[in-house]
Amino acid sequence: MKKLEKFIETYSDYPNKGINFKDLLGIVQEPNIFRELIIEMSSSAIIENAEAIISIDARGFIFGSAISFYASKPMIVARKPGKLPGELLTKNYILEYGENALSIQKKVLQKYNSFAIVDDLLATGGTAECVSNLLKENNKDVSGLLVVVELMELKGRSKLNFPIESSIVF
Ligand code: AMP
Repeated sequence: MKKLEKFIETYSDYPNKGINFKDLLGIVQEPNIFRELIIEMSSSAIIENAEAIISIDARGFIFGSAISFYASKPMIVARKPGKLPGELLTKNYILEYGENALSIQKKVLQKYNSFAIVDDLLATGGTAECVSNLLKENNKDVSGLLVVVELMELKGRSKLNFPIESSIVF
């Protein structure tokens, strides 16, 4: 979706020096563009081939929940530390800027066998890799990764061994 570019703003050196932060929030201020994007993402085979969606904290929730609604697929979440109650499955990962961990509620994971991972952006691939490892270690299938933006030069794709679709590449 080439026209998405207009609604994505780049901030240099945010949150750290050397990072070109892509702010996607302009997309949700344009309901017609957002709708078109969600319809496009929802029609992907990655969604069709999954029993459920797993969206990643926090901007992944914006796109994941809209896809869940449109495609009528259940959504679960992978959240950063201190955000989820109950028994958790947790994994650490390295981000383009810093380190973090993601957790999934054990009980909700047990309900589904295959997942489409949804996030706003693919950079180094560490975040998506963390979620896919968590899923695979718990004997779940990954149908693929759907993101709005892919930052090509960070080569996240090379880390991941499942289908990946992005709506715009920088
Ligand atoms: P990565 O694990 O390196 O693929 O990073 C992807 C995650 O970090 C996504 O959840 C993004 O929200 C966030 N992220 C990483 N780099 C950027 C960037 N340059 N602009 C905006 N978000 C980013």
